[in-house]
Amino acid sequence: MSELRHPIGTFDVLTPDSRRWETLVGVFARVVEGAGYGLVLTPTFEDLSVFQRVGASTDIVRKEMYDFEDKGGRRIALRPEMTASVVRAYIQHRPTTPWKAWYVGSNFRYESPQAGRYREFHQVGIEAFGAVDADLDVEVIALGWEFYRALGLRRIQLLVNSLGDATCRPPYRALLLEYLEGRRDDLCDEHRERFADNPLRILDCKRPTCHAVAAEAPKQVEHLCDGCATHFARTTGGLDSLGIPWTLATDLVRGLDYYTRTTFEYAGLALQSAQNAVGGGGRYDGLVEEMGGPATPGIGFALGVERILMACDAEGTLPSPPATVDVFVVDFAGGSAARDLTAQLRSAGIRADRAFDGRSPKAQFKSADRSGARLALVVGPDEEAAGTVVVRPMAGDRQQRPVERHRVVAEVSRLLAP
Ligand code: AMP
Repeated sequence: MSELRHPIGTFDVLTPDSRRWETLVGVFARVVEGAGYGLVLTPTFEDLSVFQRVGASTDIVRKEMYDFEDKGGRRIALRPEMTASVVRAYIQHRPTTPWKAWYVGSNFRYESPQAGRYREFHQVGIEAFGAVDADLDVEVIALGWEFYRALGLRRIQLLVNSLGDATCRPPYRALLLEYLEGRRDDLCDEHRERFADNPLRILDCKRPTCHAVAAEAPKQVEHLCDGCATHFARTTGGLDSLGIPWTLATDLVRGLDYYTRTTFEYAGLALQSAQNAVGGGGRYDGLVEEMGGPATPGIGFALGVERILMACDAEGTLPSPPATVDVFVVDFAGGSAARDLTAQLRSAGIRADRAFDGRSPKAQFKSADRSGARLALVVGPDEEAAGTVVVRPMAGDRQQRPVERHRVVAEVSRLLAP
């Protein structure tokens, strides 16, 4: 029988690597909860229509989605991103605004797997609903920035653009279409026939032919209406005021269609450029209404956990913290002391572990060493008979001494106290 393996484009995370995931999510929660964002949980799958409404003409929805019919005949999709799900939840529950939510979870895209590009990948992110204020754009962008800094990342580049709104996007789109019409023969095979469906897509097409056309195309940021221009100036001015360096990226259109005004991406400069986006987001003032809810502005970002960890490796930050317990109980008097002591220690909030299956004292001490415990509690037949436990420091002078059984938890607490 062939060995079972995880599906292509997915992976397992075991300790100690998984400890970094815990740290990363903990740091993210601390940063965003410190700004009033609360955790939101949504299902991993949704009705297909949730995603079709947000990106019917994008690769993410057209080509890469894991969609299927369930046993009840419903059209279902594994989420390719989180924003649409959070918007769906907002519309369904109508929390009072401003509503500031954060999330962590996996997304699914049927892509060609390679380093930094998986079929199931994980994101942390935030979404904020109910304010058009450009200072909220500054808050959101700054929180992403702050999070990378808190992980120890220093080589992050912030790219910012504006995609305009319902006033200035249509005339810009017409201008872009006219330009692309004239350059039709220079576009890649896929876009030559289809550019009119979604002309903005040409701007982030990775093929060299389209890239050259995009470089000379008119830029939305140079054709903003007064409202969008003021918003963009306030946003970038706010970043300057907070000392967050940013770079104008006129071709930053992002992979889904719902963005208005501010879009941004964080690039990990220590990573290979093809897969160096460690996160991105933007404003989506029309999305809630497009999805059937009350007109409500919104903005958010999603950051790729795997890419961030790759950037941490490349920059030599966020090492895997060793998994440790405080105390290891070595029992070669039958195991009852190990059973009862570990339970008592854990009840007292002390991290404790032990060996099973009556291993030899030597094997148990080896496990104690590996556990990272600062103290070993040793119970042999003599201690068992005398009702004592030998407390033995695992480092330093290793001066060990017997303690009466009923006093051992208190004694351990005293020794472990900072
Ligand atoms: P997107 O909304 O597509 O820009 O995704 C946001 C972030 O998620 C990206 O900046 C990446 O860090 C990460 N990401 C997107 N797709 C993948 C993937 N297939 N594998 C790993 N990470 C991804």
